[in-house]
Amino acid sequence: MLTGRMMDFPLTLTHFLERARTFFGKSELVTCLVDKTECRMSYEEFSARTGKLANALTHKLGIKAGDRVATLAFNHQPHLEAYFAIPCVGAVLHTLNLRLHPTELGYIAKHGEDVVVFCDEALLPLLEKFRADVPSLRKVVVFRNDPKAPRSTPLPEGFLDYEDLIAGEPSHFDWPRLEENSAAMLCYTSGTTGNPKGVLYSHRSIALHTLVIMSRENMGIAGDDVILPVVPMFHAAAWGTPFAAVAAGSKLVFGGGHFDAVTLLDLMAKERVTFAAGVPTIWIGILSALDAEPKRWDLSSMRTMAIGGSAAPPALIDGFSTRHGLEVTHAWGMTETQPVGTMARIKPNLRGGSPEQLLALRASQGFAVTFVEQRHTDETGKVLAWDGETMGELEVRGPWVAKSYFGDEGKDRFTADGWFKTGDVVTIDAEGYVRITDRSKDVVKSGGEWISSVQLENALMAHPAVLEAAVFAARHPKWDERPVAAIVLRPGKAATEAELAASIEGKFAKYWMPDRFLFVETIPRTSTGKFLKSRLRELYGEVLMK
Ligand code: ADP
Repeated sequence: MLTGRMMDFPLTLTHFLERARTFFGKSELVTCLVDKTECRMSYEEFSARTGKLANALTHKLGIKAGDRVATLAFNHQPHLEAYFAIPCVGAVLHTLNLRLHPTELGYIAKHGEDVVVFCDEALLPLLEKFRADVPSLRKVVVFRNDPKAPRSTPLPEGFLDYEDLIAGEPSHFDWPRLEENSAAMLCYTSGTTGNPKGVLYSHRSIALHTLVIMSRENMGIAGDDVILPVVPMFHAAAWGTPFAAVAAGSKLVFGGGHFDAVTLLDLMAKERVTFAAGVPTIWIGILSALDAEPKRWDLSSMRTMAIGGSAAPPALIDGFSTRHGLEVTHAWGMTETQPVGTMARIKPNLRGGSPEQLLALRASQGFAVTFVEQRHTDETGKVLAWDGETMGELEVRGPWVAKSYFGDEGKDRFTADGWFKTGDVVTIDAEGYVRITDRSKDVVKSGGEWISSVQLENALMAHPAVLEAAVFAARHPKWDERPVAAIVLRPGKAATEAELAASIEGKFAKYWMPDRFLFVETIPRTSTGKFLKSRLRELYGEVLMK
C-alpha cells in the first residue's frame, strides 16, 4: 500500500473548543432560568469557564484519563461547560437521564462507575435516592440555577458549589493532545427491553458526526444559526446539537427545565431561533399552541425544526408547513448511532412529485446520512430487497455506530459481518427511503401477520379531533394480538369510535383496523418523551379478552 502523505491530525472535541475560543468569542449563550428570566454569556466567558473547570477537574477533583464523570442536569450553559471540559481533559462525560427511575439511575451510575456527579440543585432529591447505590461516587458538584446569582440556600455537607469550584481557577488550561479514538462520552439506552446498555462514544465518532450534521445536506448548522436544543442534553447528546453549535460558533439557547409549548415558543420568538430539535410529542404541543393563537409568536427566523426519536406524523409536518409556513426536518436515530442515522431529505430527482408524494417522503425516515450505511434483513439474516414493501429489521454501520456495548450486554445486536441490529422494523424503497413500521417490540402480530402501529397512528393523527394517537398490541383470544388505539382528543373537540374508524377505513387492509378506540386523558411517555407502549399494554392489554 502506498500511504497518503497527509498529517495525522486527531479528530477531537478539543479542536472545536479551541476553535470557538479563537474565532467565536462574541457569540452568545442564553439559558432560560427557573423564573423564566435569562442568563446570558458570551462564548468568550464560556471558553474561560470551561478552562477553569478543566483545572478544577484535574487539580481539585483528581480526575484522570478515562474516569467517568456524570451529569444529572437539564439543558443550560454550565452543562455545556461540562460537555467540553470533561472529555477534553481526557475523562468521559456520562449524561444521566433524570427522567429514569432512581433504581435505574443507580444501576446506570454504578455500571458506568461514575466518580463525580455534577447535579442541578433542583435534582438533589433525586440524586439522594440512588447515591448510596454507586460505590464509586466520591464527589457531588452542584450547578446553581443562576450561575450569576449568589447561592441562597446552603448545600448539604461535603457537596461542592460549581461556581465556587471554578471561581479561583485560571481560565487557561493546557489541553492534552488526545488520541481520537479515546472515549469521550457515555450514554445509556433507555432500557425499555432489559437493562440499560452503555454506548461509549469516542472523540473521533463525535467529531465526524458533528461535521456531517453541520453539512447543508443534513441539519446545515452554521455560525448564523440560533439553536434551541429542546431535546435534553441527557438524551443522546441532544442529538449532537451542542457539539455542532460550538464547532460553528452558533448562538445557543437553552430551555433549562422548561418543556411547555408556550415557554418554548416565547423563547423561539424572543431569541430569533433558527433551528430547534425535539421529539414529536413536544412538537404536537407546539403545533397545537400555534393553531390556537396563530398570531401570537413571530417565528419568521425559524429555518427548520428537526423532529426525531419517534415517527413524525405526516399531519404534524403538514400542519406546520401549510398553516404556519414552518419547515420540519425528520430524522431517525438511536443512542447507539449517536444518534443521527438517516434523514428525510428530498432528492432533486423527486422534487417534482405531487404534494402527497412530497409529504410522504418528508414523513419517511429518509436515507442514511454520509458515512452511515443501511440494509434490512429477515429473521435468518438474509438481506432483503429495496422494494418499498418487504418488511425486515433495519441494520446500520458507520463510524458513529456502536460496535459493542460498554460491558458484556447485548452481544446479539451486532452481526458477524459488522452491522448493528437496530430492532426497528422497516421497508426500504428503490430510492433508498426507509420507512419504520414499528420497533420490533411494538409491532402488532395478528394471526401471524404484522400490523404497523406507526402507520395507523399517522392516519389517526390526521383526524381534526385527534391530538395524539398511540396504537398498541392488545391480547386477543383468537388472533393472539389485535391493534387497539389510545386516543387523546383535542380540547373542545369530540369524535366517536365509529367516526375514527370511518376516517381511516379504506386506507389499510381490513385486518389492520383497530378493534377498539380508547379515549384517554394522556398517553404515558417514556423517559425520552415517546409514547410508552409497554405501559399501554399493561393498562389496557386485556381489553379484548373480556
Ligand atoms: P429510547 O427510545 O429507547 O429511549 P433511543 O432514543 O435510542 O432510545 O431510541 C431509538 C429508537 O427510537 C429507534 O430505534 C426507533 O425505534 C425510534 N426512532 C427514532 N427516530 C425515529 C423516527 N424518526 N421515526 C420512527 N422511530 C424513530
